[in-house]
Amino acid sequence: MNNKLLVLGTIAYDAIETPFGKTEKILGGCATYIGLAASHFTSQCGLISILGGDFEEKHLTLLKEKKLDLEGVEQLQQEKTFFWSGKYHNDLNTRTTLETQLNVLTKFEPNVPEKFRDARMVLLGNLDPNIQLKVLAQMKQQPDLIVMDTMNFWIETYRDKLDELIAKVDVISINDEEARQLTQKHSLVEAAKDLQAMGPKYIVIKKGEHGALLFHGSNIFCAPGLPLEEVFDPTGAGDSFIGGFTAYLVQRKKINFEEMKTAVIVGSAMASFTVQEFGTTALEKMTFVQLAQRIQAFKSLTEFDIELT
Ligand code: AMP
Repeated sequence: MNNKLLVLGTIAYDAIETPFGKTEKILGGCATYIGLAASHFTSQCGLISILGGDFEEKHLTLLKEKKLDLEGVEQLQQEKTFFWSGKYHNDLNTRTTLETQLNVLTKFEPNVPEKFRDARMVLLGNLDPNIQLKVLAQMKQQPDLIVMDTMNFWIETYRDKLDELIAKVDVISINDEEARQLTQKHSLVEAAKDLQAMGPKYIVIKKGEHGALLFHGSNIFCAPGLPLEEVFDPTGAGDSFIGGFTAYLVQRKKINFEEMKTAVIVGSAMASFTVQEFGTTALEKMTFVQLAQRIQAFKSLTEFDIELT
């Protein structure tokens, strides 16, 4: 058993608007958030992504300093890096995509480095399902766990390919709105049942500040969202969640519902840091000790005694 984690996703520049402020182009992308979160649990995390010539050296240095393996990250000098801009509404749970510039992503032919073709776990971050499938096809042996994420942009454009991918993964992590969009069911319990029937044994439904649900057969686990005094920018919360979730599992021997429950809490704690500052800032600074303290905070938040007389 190795504890290699292969991560596919965007490394991007984002421009974000929240009720508290606005940023120009800052570092973003699902692979960036996933990698930063995962780096706390494994030193063998390989990213598969593509960059344009405008990608700044200081951001490459940051990823390298976090010991992320960038052999699978290609850079096309004559192209521009993937760009996304979004605006959050007052509740911070909903957002509107203002602009998606695929740029270099249209030229992306993923190439999994030889040393990661036997990775124990594969995390397919939110991306074109055609590319997600191409990465899976390059694995030399069946990974112990394949986790995927997606979003409305891809659900609307490539539904057939997405269904083909969903049938091949073990865990799908999506938000409540996307679960409803994929299944046409309003009840999340029914949506999770339908999603399980499509292939994955484990379903994670993220509910923004209201936490996350984990479904496996007839088992359900409910993780709260940590009530935070300050939430500045929810961008990357879902990616930090799934990065923490999968990287926690990659260093555990067994993969079962009990381990997944802990993984959901680790992911939730990770995401709770991300939202406290714009972009990747809080996640970059977070220490393992702080993460451990926050996991304890999650525990005390939900622990209670009850005696009915
Ligand atoms: P999250 O808030 O967890 O959903 O992820 C936000 C990140 O996803 C941002 O940093 C964006 O750069 C990236 N992103 C936005 N749209 C897409 C897309 N269509 N495909 C892949 N990544 C995207």
